[in-house]
Amino acid sequence: MSRGQDGSRRIYFGGESRYGDDRPREECGVFGVFGHEDAAALTALGLHALQHRGQEGCGIVTYDGHRFNQERRLGLVGDNFNKAEVIARLKGRMAVGHNRYSTTGDVVLRNVQPLFADLDTGGFAVGHNGNLTNALTLRQELISSGAICQSTSDTEVVLHLISRSKKRRIVERMVDALLQIEGAYAFVGLTNDMLIGARDPVGIRPLVLGRLGEAWVLTSETCALDIVGAEFVREIENGEVVAITAEGITSHRPFPRRPARPCVFEYVYFARPDSIVGGRSVYEIRKQFGVQLAMEAPTEADVIVPVPDSGVPSAIGYSTAARIPFELGIIRNHYVGRTFIEPEQRIRQLGVKLKHSANPGVIRGNRVVLLDDSVVRGTTSKKIVAMIKEAGAREVHMRISSPPIRYPDFYGIDTPSTDDLLAANMTVEEMRDFMGADSLAFLSVDGLYRAMGCDHRDARSPQFTDHCFTGDYPTRLVDQDGAADFQLSLLADAR
Ligand code: AMP
Repeated sequence: MSRGQDGSRRIYFGGESRYGDDRPREECGVFGVFGHEDAAALTALGLHALQHRGQEGCGIVTYDGHRFNQERRLGLVGDNFNKAEVIARLKGRMAVGHNRYSTTGDVVLRNVQPLFADLDTGGFAVGHNGNLTNALTLRQELISSGAICQSTSDTEVVLHLISRSKKRRIVERMVDALLQIEGAYAFVGLTNDMLIGARDPVGIRPLVLGRLGEAWVLTSETCALDIVGAEFVREIENGEVVAITAEGITSHRPFPRRPARPCVFEYVYFARPDSIVGGRSVYEIRKQFGVQLAMEAPTEADVIVPVPDSGVPSAIGYSTAARIPFELGIIRNHYVGRTFIEPEQRIRQLGVKLKHSANPGVIRGNRVVLLDDSVVRGTTSKKIVAMIKEAGAREVHMRISSPPIRYPDFYGIDTPSTDDLLAANMTVEEMRDFMGADSLAFLSVDGLYRAMGCDHRDARSPQFTDHCFTGDYPTRLVDQDGAADFQLSLLADAR
C-alpha cells in the first residue's frame, strides 16, 4: 500500500492496470446448476454463451455426492471444455462455473474461478461477477490477522470472511460475509447439497434464475438459459440471497431494502443483445439508443454504418429514425483470437484491418454516419474514422449511442483511470478533432434514460447505476479513500 501525492491510499495487488492493450475488458460471467445429470456439460454450454463477459480464463467445479471435481483453465470455454473426457471428469448433478478476464501466463491460473475452499462446514466453491470496493481494505486486515491469500482475487476475501464466520449454517455464514463487503457482486456458490446465489444490495451486476425440467439454473444472463433450453423464472433481486436445495428454494433478505440500481452499461455494451435484462430486451434498448440519438443529433448523410458488432443495434435504430439506409460498411474478422501471432511492427501498423476492414462499395463517395456504442480511450474511433476516410468517404460523422464516459468504474468493468478516459480530458470538439471526424455527438444522459423507458433520470433516486457517465457511485468506495481518479485494479495479477 502506498500513498498518492494527495495523501490518498493507493493499494495495488501487484502489477498495474490490466488496461494494457487497445481495448478495455469487462469481466465475468457465472453459471450454476442444481439437480441435473449433465450439470458440467450444461455449465460449459452456459459459459460458452457468456463468453463475451470474459475471455481469458474459465472454470467449472462440480460435486458428485462424494467429492468436488474442479477444472480451471486459461483461454476460451470452447477450447477447454470441448472434450468429452474433461466433462466426464466433472461428475455430479451440481455445478458452478465462471468466465473471467486475466492476462496470460501460468501465474494467473490461480485467479481463475470458481475458487474453492474446505471450510469447517465442508467444501465450498464460489464464482463472482463484479468488483468489491472494500476488498483491499478487508484483505489488508485479514493478512494482518494472519490469513494467507492464495490468489489476488477479491473473491478470496469473501471466502475468508465466510470461513471466519461463527455462524453454523453456510447461508448464514455467507450473509455474515456479505454484510462486510461493499461494491458490485453476483455470486454463485456450491456446497455438497446447495447452490447459492447472491446479488448486491442495489443489484449492479445481473443474476437470473432458470428452470430446466426438475433442475435449477442461476446465471448472469438469459442468453445462457436459452442455450441450455432452460426457462427463465425470475431475476434474483437486489440484496437477495437464494439457497437452492433438494427441498426447493429459500430466499433471504439480509440488507435493509434499497431501490435497485442495475448497471446501465449492461445495456450499452456488456450484455448480449439477445438477453433480457431487468425485463428489457437488450437488443430493443440498443435500437432505442439509436432512435434517441437520431433525434438528438441528426445529420445529412447517405449511409448509416455500425462499428461491428456492438454498434449494430443502435445503427439500425438510428437508420430507421433518420430514414437513411443502414449498410455494413465495416466487416469484422471474427477469427482474431488470442492465438493470433502478433506480426512484425511494420505489418502491425496495418492495425485495425486485422479486426475491421472497410467495405469500400458502400463507403466510397458517401457521407457516412458511423455508429459505435461507447468511447473509452478513443482508440477504436480514431482508427475506424481514418479507415473509412481512406476507403473514400466524403464525410464521416461519428455518433456514439451512450454519453461520454468521464468517470472510472469500480464495479467490474476494466475501464482505465480518469487520465486515460478520452471524455474526461477533452471537450466533444477536441474529441472530434482527435478522431478526425467531421462531426461527433454522444447520446445525452436523459436520452439514455428515455430509451430505457424512463421519463428522465431521477436525480434524487437514479433508476440505474450510471457512474461512468455521471460520477454518481451507488456504493461507498472504501478502498479509494475518496480519491476516484486512479485506476484500482483489484484483480490485477501479481507479477
Ligand atoms: P476505445 O477504443 O478505448 O475508445 O474503446 C471503445 C470500444 O471498446 C467501443 O467499440 C466499445 O464497443 C468497446 N468497449 C466499451 N467498453 C468496453 C469494455 N468494458 N470492455 C471491452 N470493450 C469495451
